[in-house]
Amino acid sequence: MKDFRYIDNIASLKLDRDACIGCGMCATVCPHRIFEIQDNKADILDFNACMECGACALNCPTDAISVTPGVGCASYIITVWLSKLTGKKVDSACC
Ligand code: SF4
Ligand code: SF4
Repeated sequence: MKDFRYIDNIASLKLDRDACIGCGMCATVCPHRIFEIQDNKADILDFNACMECGACALNCPTDAISVTPGVGCASYIITVWLSKLTGKKVDSACC
């Protein structure tokens, strides 16, 4: 899914660096490798590649990350990806 891009500057992803303890979970679970840990703090490397899956926020132990899953039709992106992966047409409930 690395080739999929979101609409620029619309993702709901937010990072509170003051609350971050640098555990690295966000970098581990993000399918798009959006986070990097530097000086014991997470940094967002590629904001517009976020597909709002919610995995980072779900796994952050200090609630330093917030994101509203699916705001930008993440389900549509996943559907298209699955369709390309399997070669089968997958019905999408997305608008
Ligand atoms: S999961 Fe949360 S606390 Fe851990 S590095 Fe990422 S933002 Fe920081
Ligand atoms: S919401 Fe998903 S794609 Fe976006 S930064 Fe978090 S883990 Fe990565």
